[in-house]
Amino acid sequence: MSTLSLYVHIPFCISKCGYCDFNSYAMNGPIVSETVDAILAEIRLSGYPKGTAQSIFFGGGTPTFLDSASLQRILNSLRDRFPLAPEAEITVEANPGTADMQRFMDLRSAGFNRISIGVQSFDDGLLHRLERRHSAAEAARAVGIAREAGFENINLDLMFGIPGQTETDWEKSLQSALSLQPEHISLYSLTIEPKTRFGHLQRIGQLPLPNEEAVLTMYERAIEAARQAGFGHYEVSNFAKPGYQCRHNINYWRNGPYAAYGPGAVSCLWEDAAGARYRRWTNELSPRKYCQKMESDETLAVEEETVSGMTALGESMMVGLRMMEGVSLSSLYQRYKIDMALVYEREIAKLIERGLIGFTGDRIVLTHRGLLFANDVVLEFIALPEGNKFTVNPQN
Ligand code: SF4
Repeated sequence: MSTLSLYVHIPFCISKCGYCDFNSYAMNGPIVSETVDAILAEIRLSGYPKGTAQSIFFGGGTPTFLDSASLQRILNSLRDRFPLAPEAEITVEANPGTADMQRFMDLRSAGFNRISIGVQSFDDGLLHRLERRHSAAEAARAVGIAREAGFENINLDLMFGIPGQTETDWEKSLQSALSLQPEHISLYSLTIEPKTRFGHLQRIGQLPLPNEEAVLTMYERAIEAARQAGFGHYEVSNFAKPGYQCRHNINYWRNGPYAAYGPGAVSCLWEDAAGARYRRWTNELSPRKYCQKMESDETLAVEEETVSGMTALGESMMVGLRMMEGVSLSSLYQRYKIDMALVYEREIAKLIERGLIGFTGDRIVLTHRGLLFANDVVLEFIALPEGNKFTVNPQN
């Protein structure tokens, strides 16, 4: 049985951070409430999919840019539209700059039971460098407010590899985050996207990024510190106290189905019971065009594809390998009717030889060294092996 996750994209932020490549806009005024109305209409009118939702995630942008009443209306409309699993995980992302006791209490009583706070750093100089609009003190205060408002499942996002960041700076941020005793931490290395302001600064040689060796050291140190603090390392960048792994994201990493609403939201729904074939589409990105299309009953999708066979298998490998549990070859066979070990025989042998992956039972897992180069490892499974002679029939 597949599980269904729901996602809502709130595309607004107070300002645009220099490194940000998300579908987010520093907009305000009537467009904000128009977008909320359009999202409500999209949820109400979409005839797909059926199923019980096991998780809901409000991301962005900055969902808490909206007032709590609007977030509650959207959550209620999802509840009207979908049966929710008992104990469903319902996450809202929050920016420390928007933390406010009443707001967080309202969100908690609306039904959000998990909050993900975008801290990024506990160093004011580095926050300034990232063009974040909050201070380290505000981030710590946001965690305290979330706790007092009744959130028992708090995630903190932290970033390393920031321009000008030293290993000592990283250690301090890491320890500050751990001292706040969140249930979950996401520790990401900054990636520079070409179309961002940071991308431009990098091209003109004005972005003093730490070198690759320093970034790897920061990552290794993060793994060690999180483990020492009692967190389980369950995905390349994610760590959780026992019982607090993010179920919503696990569904993505298991290549499960999800329905998503809002500008730029990406949905992926299965077209057969096993999930060997699925349809994926992206909504109109611009909030204005999204609202106009919703108003005039035009299709919202700007990109759409049906994925099956070797491409789908490669995608399952690519996302699944990010999890420490790895990817089970027998589960992949059940889903795609393809013998993964045969199809990727050469790639697997090469990665084992380089010490990047290994086997635990019938599962392919990343080794410690593989974790450090996870992005390179997963790419091996995206392209079809040359001369591949295997075909897939999902009806088999
Ligand atoms: S707050 Fe987050 S989504 Fe908004 S601009 Fe900054 S990085 Fe992007």
